[in-house]
Amino acid sequence: MRKYVIMGVQGSGKGTQAKQLAADFDLVHISVGDIYRWHVQYHTRLGAQVRRAMHAGELVDDATTESVVRDRLAQHDWNYGFVLDGFPRNLRQAQFFLESWDVDAVIHLDLPDSEVRRRVLARRLCSHCGMDYNLIEQSPAREGRCDACGGELVSRADDTEEALASRLADYHAKTDPALGLFRGKELVISVDARSGKAAVQRAIREQLGLPLPAKKPARS
Ligand code: AMP
Repeated sequence: MRKYVIMGVQGSGKGTQAKQLAADFDLVHISVGDIYRWHVQYHTRLGAQVRRAMHAGELVDDATTESVVRDRLAQHDWNYGFVLDGFPRNLRQAQFFLESWDVDAVIHLDLPDSEVRRRVLARRLCSHCGMDYNLIEQSPAREGRCDACGGELVSRADDTEEALASRLADYHAKTDPALGLFRGKELVISVDARSGKAAVQRAIREQLGLPLPAKKPARS
């Protein structure tokens, strides 16, 4: 059983790294942001409750978020463990988490704010099939259109300059103390998130003592 929390400012690559760990080690990837986006997209009651905070780049209130996490983890579909992505985001959430669950490690993806801004403002999402793009590394063949389905590429509603500035300030004020709590318990491994995806994944696994990803065969 492997239980990890992955933390880092938005744009640090948490989702990508968490998904790869989950896929290779049969872990369940639990992204609180994805759960909330699903509810907003399908106009559920919870979606109506959280959409204003999400669009403003603010955190959803703790009671709501804690019950979402409690319900999700109570499903117990994580036989081999989980990677919790986007939670906890403040000291109260971290304390709540440690009261009910234990964790093997907290993966901290470390990225300077200037790099966050550059990355986040280049993100696009296909409005039709939901495929993610980052225009810095991967421009679609046809500008503004999804390579897979031809759908229109749009920014996520919470990827505006204003929402980002508010998230960065919020992150440092609220999430740094949560990270501090985990640091005090010697649970944190910190990885420089400026390198490419593959290098970051290797650094995470080296620090966690996990087998490294298989090298891609060289092309002949
Ligand atoms: P993310 O995809 O992790 O950036 O999350 C998108 C949005 O979901 C955030 O901007 C918040 O509005 C909300 N959210 C995600 N995780 C949390 C959390 N742990 N606490 C409060 N709100 C959250």
